Amino acid sequence: MQQLERPLVVIANRLPVSRGPEGWHASSGGLVTAMRPVIEQVGGAWVGWDDDPEGVPRRVDDFSCDLFPVSLSQAEVQGYYHGFANRTIWPLFHDLVVEPVIDRGWWRTYAEVNNRFADAAAQVIEELDTPPMLWIQDYHLMLLPELLRRRFPASPIGFFLHIPFPPPELVARLPWRDQLLHGLLAADSLGFHTPRYRDNFASSVQQLVSGVTVMGDTLVMADGHQIRTGAHPISIDADEFATLATSEATEHELDELKEQFSGRKVFLGVDRLDYTKGIRHRLQSIELLLERRPELRGEVAFVQIAVPSRDDVKEYRELRQQVEREVGRINGRFTEPGHDVPVHYFYRSVPREALAAYYRLADVMCVTPLKDGMNLVAKEFVTVQAAAGEAGVLMLSEFCGTAIEFGDDAVRCNPFDVEGQSYLMETALQIDDDDRRGRIARMADAVHERDVYRWVDDELADIRRGSEGP
Ligand code: UDP
Repeated sequence: MQQLERPLVVIANRLPVSRGPEGWHASSGGLVTAMRPVIEQVGGAWVGWDDDPEGVPRRVDDFSCDLFPVSLSQAEVQGYYHGFANRTIWPLFHDLVVEPVIDRGWWRTYAEVNNRFADAAAQVIEELDTPPMLWIQDYHLMLLPELLRRRFPASPIGFFLHIPFPPPELVARLPWRDQLLHGLLAADSLGFHTPRYRDNFASSVQQLVSGVTVMGDTLVMADGHQIRTGAHPISIDADEFATLATSEATEHELDELKEQFSGRKVFLGVDRLDYTKGIRHRLQSIELLLERRPELRGEVAFVQIAVPSRDDVKEYRELRQQVEREVGRINGRFTEPGHDVPVHYFYRSVPREALAAYYRLADVMCVTPLKDGMNLVAKEFVTVQAAAGEAGVLMLSEFCGTAIEFGDDAVRCNPFDVEGQSYLMETALQIDDDDRRGRIARMADAVHERDVYRWVDDELADIRRGSEGP
C-alpha cells in the first residue's frame, strides 16, 4: 500500500456510502474497498453530491472518513448531471454511439456545479493542518483541477478519468473544449485506463491547446507546469471475488440455477442498461444464431441481467423499450409450446451471491460493448470462474479497455458486426475444455496481478511524483 505523508481528499460525483435497510454503510464497489485502507491510514475526507432526500450523514459507522455532501438543486442536477455529464460528455467520449446534445444552459450549470464542488473541497482543505493530496474522479468534475490549483497551489492534484478519452477530432466538436482541457491540465497527474486514451488526450492537447510540449508521458505547459499522464487500468478486489465464488450462498444459488437450466448451454450478459453496452446488437446476434442453427434452439439459453440506469434520460428509456421489444420478438419466435423461453431477461440488479452464481453457470459470458472505458464484469467473471474451477469462455468486445489486458485468451469480437458475432458465439461453444481452462486461468492471473489495490497504488504514486516535478 502506498505510504502517504499527507491526508487524502477525494472529490467525486458520488459519496462512498449507501443506505440499506439497516442504515448507512460504506458502498460495496471495488473503488471504495480499495481506497478505504489508504484513507483510513492517512486520514482525509470525501466530497461528493448529496443525492439522498434526507441527507447523507457526515460519518458512517463502518468507515473512518469524513464525508462532505454537496447539495444540488433539481435544476442543477438536471443541467450538470442528466444534461452535460450524461447527454453531452458521455456519448461524445463513447465515440458518438448516440448523438451528444450541445446545450449552453447545461454547460453553464456544469461550470457552476464544478465551482460548488470546489467551494466544498476548499472548506475541507482549509480545516486540515497539512495541505492534502487531492484526488478528483471522473468526467463530472473536469474543471476542478484548475479551480483548486488557483486556490491551493501547494496541494498535489490528481485526476482519474473512468471513461474513455476520445480522439482529437471528437474532442474538437465540443464548443467548450478549451475550458475542459485547461481544467484538466492544471492537475499534476492525469490518469486514464489505457495507453490509447492517454495518447488521445496528449494528441488532443497538442492539436487544440497552444504552447504545450509532449515529452513521453509528461506534458509541459508554456509556463513550465508539468503534468504526468498515466495508463492505469481500474480493476476489482480479486481476492474478494475469488472467495465469493465458492461461498455457501453462491453454491446454494448455483444449485438452483443448474436445476433450472439443466442440459442447456448458457450465454450470459450482465450490464447496466446503457446504449454503450451493445445489448441490442448482442440480442440480434442471438436471434441470428437461433435462426441459422435450428438444432440449437432447445440446447441453449441466454440470460441478460440489465441493471436499471439513468432512467431520467430519454435515450435510456427508449433503449429499454427497444431491448424489451427485441427480447419479446426472440421469445415469440423461438419458444416451443411447453418449453422454456430462450431469452431470460431481468431488468433489475441482483445480489452479489446470485451474480457470482450466474458467472459460474455461464458457458459463454458475452461482454460485447460498443465502447467501454474498462469493464469490470469481464474481470469478475474470469476471477469467479477460475476460483471455482469452472471452464467457461469470455467473449469480449475489442472496443473495451479490458480487451488490452486479456489479449487472445478472450474470444475477441466486433459487436458492430452482428452476423460475425453470431458465428463467434458458435465458435465459443466449440473450444475444448483444456483450452478453456487455460484461458480462464491466465486471464484470472492477470486480474490478480493488477487488482484494484494496485490501481490505487499506481495512481497515488503518480500524483506524488507528478507534484514533485522532474
Ligand atoms: N453489478 C451490480 N449489480 C448487478 C450486476 C452488476 O452491482 O446486478 C456490478 C458488477 O458487479 C460490476 C458493475 O456493476 O462491478 C459494473 O461495472 P462495469 O465496469 O462492468 O460497467 P459500468 O456499469 O461501470 O459501466
